[in-house]
Formats: sequence, C-alpha cells, structure tokens
Amino acid sequence: MTARVLVVDDILANVKLLEAKLTAEYFDVMTARSGVEALETVNRSMPDIILLDVMMPGMDGFEVCDRLKSNPQTHHIPVIMVTALDQPQDRVKGLESGADDFLTKPVSDVALFSRVKSLVRLKMLTDELRSRAETSERMGLLERDLQEAMASTPGNIMLVDDKENSVARLTGALNERHRVSVYRDPQAALFDAAEKDWELLIVSLSLQDYDGLRLCSQLRSLERTRNLPILIIVEPHDNARLLRGLDMGINDYLMRPVDKNELLARVFTQLKRWRYTQQLRENVQQSMQMAVTDPLTGLYNRRYMETHLGTLLDQTVNRGKSVSILVIDIDYFKAVNDCHGHDIGDHVLQEFAERIRSNIRTIDMACRFGGEEFVLVMPDTDMALAYKIGERLRQIIAGAPFDVVTDETPLAITISIGISALQGPDDTPDDILKRADQALYRAKRDGRNRVVADAA
Ligand code: GH3
Ligand code: MG
Ligand code: MG
Repeated sequence: MTARVLVVDDILANVKLLEAKLTAEYFDVMTARSGVEALETVNRSMPDIILLDVMMPGMDGFEVCDRLKSNPQTHHIPVIMVTALDQPQDRVKGLESGADDFLTKPVSDVALFSRVKSLVRLKMLTDELRSRAETSERMGLLERDLQEAMASTPGNIMLVDDKENSVARLTGALNERHRVSVYRDPQAALFDAAEKDWELLIVSLSLQDYDGLRLCSQLRSLERTRNLPILIIVEPHDNARLLRGLDMGINDYLMRPVDKNELLARVFTQLKRWRYTQQLRENVQQSMQMAVTDPLTGLYNRRYMETHLGTLLDQTVNRGKSVSILVIDIDYFKAVNDCHGHDIGDHVLQEFAERIRSNIRTIDMACRFGGEEFVLVMPDTDMALAYKIGERLRQIIAGAPFDVVTDETPLAITISIGISALQGPDDTPDDILKRADQALYRAKRDGRNRVVADAA
C-alpha cells in the first residue's frame, strides 16, 4: 500500500525521523514546519493522510485540525495528532477537534504503521464512494446530502463484555449519549450482530473462557457485519493480541483502565465515520436505481427493460415456460398536449403509470418505452391470459376519467394495446417486440381503444 503522507512538526528532527520511517515503508512523504504551511500544502497537493504535531508556535495542531475538518474540500482527509503530552485530556481535545486518531511521542513503529495503514485503507474506500457520488451528482441524478448533523443522534452500540464492574463503567459513560445493549455471551452477540442495525461493536478481549479476537474475526467474515466498526478493549500487557486485532482490521482500541472521555471521543469518531460511509453507499445505490428508471413516471426505462427481457427470454426457454409482452400506446395523446398544455400531458402520463403499476403483479415489469408508449413484460403468462390482462388494463384506463384538469371536466383517456408471446428458442427481444408493435398498429388502425393479439 502506498499513500501520500503529510508530516507537520515545528521541530526539524521530529520531521526527519517520521519522514525516514515512512519513506522506508514506501510512503510518499511531504513535510511542513508550521500550521500555516501545513494548510497551504494540503490545499496545493491534497495528501491522503496528515500526521499533525499538537504543540507548534503560532497556529497549534488543534486549530489546524479544526480548519481542515470544517472545510468541505479537506474534511475527509484523515488526521492523526502527534503529541508529546501523554495526557488523556489532550487526546480527547484532539479527537473533538475532529482528529481521526492520535499517536504519542516517542512514536513506536507498530503504532505508527498500524494507525497510518488502517486510516489509508479507510480513505481509499471513502474516496471511491465519494467519486461515485460526485459523478451521479454531476449527471443530475442526486442532490448532495452528506450532513454532518448525523453525528449528533444517539448510536446503536453492542457491547460484548462479561465483567460486571467493567460493564457498569462502560455503560455508565455510554448511556449518556447512546443506546447500548450488553452481551455477556459471545455466541449470542455473534447471532444478534447480523440481525439488528448496529453502528458500532465494542468487544472486550478479557472475556472468560472465550477469545474476543475469535469473535472479531467471525464478525469480519459475516456478510452483514463485515464492514461494521469494531472497537476492542485491551489490557495494557496484551500487546500481542492488540497487534493481531489491528492486523485483522479492527478499527480502533482502548486500553484499560478505560478513560471515560477517550471512550466517548473514540465512539463518536467511529459513529461519524460509519454514518458517512453508509450515506455514501446509499447514494450510490440510489443513483443506480435512478439509472434504470424513468424520472417522470418511476417506471423502468427502455435500456433496462431490453437488457432484462434478454435475460428473461434465455431463462424461460430453458425452463419451457411462457412470456408475454404488452405494448401500450395512449390514443390521441398529441391532442391532450395541444388542448391542455404539456404539463397536463405529463400528469396524464404519471396517473396512467400509477394505474398500471397498481394493477399488475410484482413479477410483471412495466417500463416507459418512450414518449407515450409503454411495455409490460409478463413472465409465466401465455397469450390467452395476456389478452385478458390487456383487456382489464384497457378498461381501467377508459373506465374512469383522469382527474388532472382543473376548472374543466375530467379528461377521458383511452389506450390501444398490442400483444405478443414468446414463440420458440430463436425468438429475440427484437422479434417479440416487433410482433407486439404490429399488433398495436392494427389496434390503432381498427379504431383505437382496443386490444389486439399478434396473429402468428
Ligand atoms: P395515436 O393515437 O396514433 O397514438 O396518436 P398520438 O397523438 O397519441 O401519437 P403521436 O405519436 O402523434 O403523438 C405522441 C405525442 O406524445 C407527441 C409528443 O409531444 C407527446 N409526448 C411524448 N413524450 C411526452 C412527454 O414526456 N410529456 C408530454 N406531455 N408529452 C409527450
Ligand atoms: Mg399515442
Ligand atoms: Mg405514438
């Protein structure tokens, strides 16, 4: 893994030391000697991660961090505070100013590389999701909606610990802001972890008769919990298992005795990060949804329908079942636009789509093929049944006027429908659509407001 690291420290020897260690591990290192220079460097060359000294003359590390985190251009860049003061208050102050992690001087190699690598990995993921969300936004598919406010709602936390005094301490601190469920049995925790919408799992490594790391590795291998943040609580002498934990992708750790403020700060950071990536994931899903649907009616679009029809025909031929297609076209729709305006025309299309949608089975797929022409794909449906369905839909449209014109009598709308069915293994989506289209042409020619089945 390689990444661009910015090292910020007012003392040259400290800069050189970190630079040498990181360069030896093939990181690309930039340096800055003051807060102001750090901000300039960040704006100019956008590093992947920043190691930030706290004590600097002029602008100190807390202020630099605060500025980076309140700027939308830079707030996603992970910041690790590096401090000589091994005081819990300073760690907490750093995390509260938005820092993602901290290291204390002298910096041990293990701590340095595990923190840097884990944050770089997370940033790679976040960058990818951010760029996808940005593309969707540029295509006009989404509004940007990455609220920071989401950090203030209580978190859903699972705590796995079986020592009563420890449970009391931890829940005492966490319950002030979050919803905590305590699991004393790791097997029950594993079962429930996949069942509920947890946002953070806290696992003690000092469980009786059970290795907490085993639980962590099981959580990492389950689909539903694979990405969930895990925070482990370790005994100070248990360095070996801490390293194993970091290796398997644990997101963060706390040493016993657990400091209440540090606990709250680390929980806050994990929740914020989890919610941020969740929201990006949802945006990506939403834009995928939007890529396959028609914005006016919410029905599937033509491109998606044609792809889907190809797949469906292949499957159907193999299983010896039937498929039918309805091509539906609104009669004299141009006149609706001409008499009442394009907006009213749009409302007619929307109400039409809603009537169709609420009168078909969930396995049927309705799509807007273009303009005022629609296609309904119906699996497991032969021609005779398709004809009955077509006739029912025709009546559902013609039977009740459309309530879309104010001050005037409601609009009477009718549709014409052409039907075709899958004929054999050589039938392509094009063939079957073409036959339905020819049937539709006959329905129009014979006077409209009628259903015609393909004669073949
Ligand atoms: P026919 O009975 O033969 O189908 O006649 P028609 O008027 O429905 O058919 P024609 O193809 O002549 O006209 C279709 C009209 O649909 C023309 C076009 O302006 C209108 N149209 C296509 N897409 C939209 C849309 O998204 N909104 C609105 N309001 N009108 C649309
Ligand atoms: Mg028409
Ligand atoms: Mg037309």
